[in-house]
Amino acid sequence: MPDKLTKKGGRCPLCKAPSVTEFAPFCSRGCRDRDLLGWLGENYRIAGRSTEEDELQKSSDYGLDSTGE
Ligand SMILES: [Zn+2]
Repeated sequence: MPDKLTKKGGRCPLCKAPSVTEFAPFCSRGCRDRDLLGWLGENYRIAGRSTEEDELQKSSDYGLDSTGE
């Protein structure tokens, strides 16, 4: 097993193809964009969730006895 290759090249975390320096650690712009979009998507989801929690807090402020928390 050529250990050098593994250390030097690395693999695309998305599709496991050999990574390209320009888009490291990904193999192509497509995979890099896909990962970026994935992150953005998660951030959006988290942001959306915290907004929901914010509203939840507000509404529990309104009716404390109805939520019981
Ligand atoms: Zn890839």
